[in-house]
Amino acid sequence: MNSSSRKKIIEALKDQQAIFGDDLFEEKISAVKTELKQEKAKIESKPVKTSYVKEPIKNSTELFTDVKSEWEKSESLDNLNNLICNCTKCVLHKGRNKFVFGSGNPNADVLVIGEGPGAEEDKQGLPFVGRAGQLLTDILKAIKFSREEVYIANIVKCRPPDNRTPLPEEMDTCIPYLKKQIELIKPKLILCLGLTAAKGLLKKKDSLTSLRGQVFDYEGIKTMVTFHPAALLRNPNWKKDCWIDVQKFRKLYDEMQ
Ligand code: SF4
Repeated sequence: MNSSSRKKIIEALKDQQAIFGDDLFEEKISAVKTELKQEKAKIESKPVKTSYVKEPIKNSTELFTDVKSEWEKSESLDNLNNLICNCTKCVLHKGRNKFVFGSGNPNADVLVIGEGPGAEEDKQGLPFVGRAGQLLTDILKAIKFSREEVYIANIVKCRPPDNRTPLPEEMDTCIPYLKKQIELIKPKLILCLGLTAAKGLLKKKDSLTSLRGQVFDYEGIKTMVTFHPAALLRNPNWKKDCWIDVQKFRKLYDEMQ
């Protein structure tokens, strides 16, 4: 199977899984997981190109106390970006062209969270810049937000090979960076795009169908879930439901003003 057909199958499975939940797709998921394991092994055998983040060596006292890393002490997004941009904590760094930290207003009221960088994002080092990015800009515009006034970030900051879904261990390793971004931005509202973003942030196991339309609480911040724009490009008939979600999101925002 060539890589473009394999990519299409993985994307179609991701969409179906997002809508109907994991249970219906366990067999297919385990087949994809086997393929991913082989891919991971291939990537791991590649030589490392990037330099390592310098973490200070812990002394014996620090080993037994909760000492923060330098990046955890960051007081600005720029500083945080500088401290983590050479991260090598998970295998995704090996296929990375550019680290994708996030972009937008550092004091945004609205934080939009996607899954991870795609090919174009990896090339430019910016989130949501391809076709899905343009659709996201249009969706935001439709509910009277500009890209400049919101902040956009992802669950993982390095591109997964063939745009596959990040593995749970990759998400768990990267999410502390996103949490630190949230701590610095202090948004009033969060919009998760797609099931991976919702699962990563909210730790929910439900399907996208059951998460949509609800308002969750993430550490005191109202959070909603809708479709990922890339899924909407593949399944345009979902746009109507997305429109319902984002209108509700806008209403929630207006009520908070
Ligand atoms: S995905 Fe996150 S944890 Fe993994 S290497 Fe990139 S920045 Fe580090």
